[in-house]
Amino acid sequence: MNFKTIILVGSIVFLAFGASKAQTKPFIKSMPYDSVNVPREHALDFEHLRLEASFIPEDGLIQGTVYHRFKTIQPSVDSVFLDAPGIRIKKVNYHGSELKFSTYADGITIRFPKAFAIHTTDSISIEYAANPRKGMYFIGWNDPSNRARKQIWTQGQGTDNRHWIPMYDEQNDKVISEMIITMPKPFKVLSNGVLKGLKDSGNNQVWHYKMSHPHATYLIMLGIGDYGIETRKTASGIDENLWYYPDLPDRVKPTYLYSIDMFDFFEKEIGVPYPWESYSQIPVQDFMYGAMENTTATVFGDFFYGNDRAFIDRNYVGVNAHELAHQWFGDMITARSGTHHWLQESFATHYNMLYEGVAFGENHLAQAFRNAQNAALNASKRDLYPVAHSNAGSSRWYPKGASVLFMLRYVVGDDVFRAAIKLYLQENAYQNVNTQDLLDAFQEAAGYSLDWFWDEWILRGGEPIWKVVTTSNETETTFKLEQMQVNEPYTSLFKMPVILELNYADGTSSSEKVWVDSKTHEFTLKHLPNKKLAYPLFDPGNKVLKFLEHKKPFEQLSIQAKSAKYMLDRLDAVLGMEEAPIDQKRKILQDIVKNESWYSVRIVAMDQLSKDDKSRKTIIAATSDKDSKMRGACVDLYDTIPNWLVSSVEKLLLDSSYSVQRDALVKLCASNPSKKNQYLETTAKELGNNAYNVRISWLSIAIAAGKTQHIDELVDFSSVSFEFNTRRAAFAEMTKLKIYSQKGIEHAWNAAQNPNYRLASGGIGYLKTAMKEDEEMKPRIQSYLDEQGKSGEQWKTDLIQKIKQ
Ligand SMILES: [Zn+2]
Repeated sequence: MNFKTIILVGSIVFLAFGASKAQTKPFIKSMPYDSVNVPREHALDFEHLRLEASFIPEDGLIQGTVYHRFKTIQPSVDSVFLDAPGIRIKKVNYHGSELKFSTYADGITIRFPKAFAIHTTDSISIEYAANPRKGMYFIGWNDPSNRARKQIWTQGQGTDNRHWIPMYDEQNDKVISEMIITMPKPFKVLSNGVLKGLKDSGNNQVWHYKMSHPHATYLIMLGIGDYGIETRKTASGIDENLWYYPDLPDRVKPTYLYSIDMFDFFEKEIGVPYPWESYSQIPVQDFMYGAMENTTATVFGDFFYGNDRAFIDRNYVGVNAHELAHQWFGDMITARSGTHHWLQESFATHYNMLYEGVAFGENHLAQAFRNAQNAALNASKRDLYPVAHSNAGSSRWYPKGASVLFMLRYVVGDDVFRAAIKLYLQENAYQNVNTQDLLDAFQEAAGYSLDWFWDEWILRGGEPIWKVVTTSNETETTFKLEQMQVNEPYTSLFKMPVILELNYADGTSSSEKVWVDSKTHEFTLKHLPNKKLAYPLFDPGNKVLKFLEHKKPFEQLSIQAKSAKYMLDRLDAVLGMEEAPIDQKRKILQDIVKNESWYSVRIVAMDQLSKDDKSRKTIIAATSDKDSKMRGACVDLYDTIPNWLVSSVEKLLLDSSYSVQRDALVKLCASNPSKKNQYLETTAKELGNNAYNVRISWLSIAIAAGKTQHIDELVDFSSVSFEFNTRRAAFAEMTKLKIYSQKGIEHAWNAAQNPNYRLASGGIGYLKTAMKEDEEMKPRIQSYLDEQGKSGEQWKTDLIQKIKQ
């Protein structure tokens, strides 16, 4: 709704990414040049979008009337193009008369009766119908056995809402949206904003939702199905509506754990009140992503809707926090174009990591930072796109960008960081933002330039690859550093403050902050008087995202591994012992497996002990550890479970974690086939949170062992009655076991047409393999597909072609 001056990027275009010309300007827009930095052009500013709609869900049909109020922002506007791919437009109404329009593959052009002058406010409404293949999804309405959940839900980001609403669908224009949806009882409807009215109309109900502030059109949502709603109140008095499956009420508690706590935490931490009147969350089936931060109404995949036991393996807490943080970063302020996408994802990820640190402890946060570091370094092996670039990719928008914000906190301090964020949000509330806006707020709040930080971490790619060598004598230690990563102009030398720390034999330490900015450095630190050095640390706690080579003698590593304050320093010390002979490290590593508080340090230690006969007791003890990750690691430790470990792993057949239980079952049956029947009997009653957790693995093993009476159950799990993870797992096992049947073909064809790519590829894979491996099946499948393709729809013909290839 608001237009600030659009900032265009510099005009330098680099022909080949990887070409290296010296570029020494201190501040750039992005390297390499990003064409998406330029937002889409438009002559109308859309202000209000009101949709009245109803459905014939069995036909995947939406019929509606959309009303647009707009203001012209250019002189003499005589027509407008609206995005509407595949939508059948019936009528365009303008103050009681019909307007002419032309239809194209991607939308319509509407001609106004006369050219509007600049800054004219007016409105049109459009009657239409659509059977969208994107943006809006109809789940379970055509299950012949009538067991499936029946839902309608939408997913708009990036530009998919245009498949079910004719509109200007771009993130650089914000509207007040209003939805008036008719749906038969007992289905409930969720949309953005406040529920203004709910009216009965025969067998139907009419749900009326309205936003009170503008938001981007990709954030418009609908979530429809049979749901219960639990409402909780936040400290600031906002209603949080938690939608749930009424047939599975026991999952409400673990799924929505900490929902209110994280809300209260964010309001305090971000320093700006939650920007909307209410907040709702709704699980949906067959969602293709993790979750989506639609304004005031987050949608999430129901694979996160889990019971207490599922919580052990995978919980919704981090994703819940991520989508909530988006209500500020993404929904209240929205990136002006794809170049600035990181302003949404890096922030949501930063705040979800921060909250997970609160909920699960600082080691959890440190682990997330390390995972982010590994993801960033791996991505840099492929290319060197910066965080602020439309081609940056998810490992930069999410983990790397989130870590960059942690480093920004580290550089400016928490107080300045919070002041800058508050300023940035307040100045840009309900508007579009770009990377420069954030820099402006930080410079304003800090009172000094941070151009250098933006340049190296946000606008250029790569990460520091630093080599450090330490040498010590009785009284001092010297750190020699070399920056190895330079690849101008895409990556340059990094400038960062780094702590150098000396840890002494008596458990005390001394430290000094230095600035790294040159290719090489030499820093010498005096030891405290009469102190004996135990081990030096370069950047204790791993505050700077980097690859660090810092070799140390075993004596230093062994003390660091057991006594360093920060988990990551202990982890790095254990990793540094990889090459040490087992007799030298056995005792230390055994102690770490037993006494260390964080699982990843223990697992790395256990890994190094896996071939050591004298460490069997340590590994056996870990199979009954209270941390499920340790128990799971014991199952993963060997390709074939050795005899001395079998009876310990057998206990895990009844483990509280579904994934440990399933992995133990699979591994034991493969390692020890003579006891297969006993293992199957022990786990026969276990379904899992959903069947894919345990039951499908069980069925596969049982069928392979000749128990063919279970084939029907496995094939049934591939049918439309079940959610997509269960169906995918069933197709994978059916393919492995070569179970090709008429039912299998029908289920696979149904799956192949599903917009959820992961489910579709399961169905397509099954059909392709069946045709390749089974001579009899090939003609049967081919004629079945030909029959299905008779409707002549192009996408079906293309899909059949793809399967037959
Ligand atoms: Zn996100």
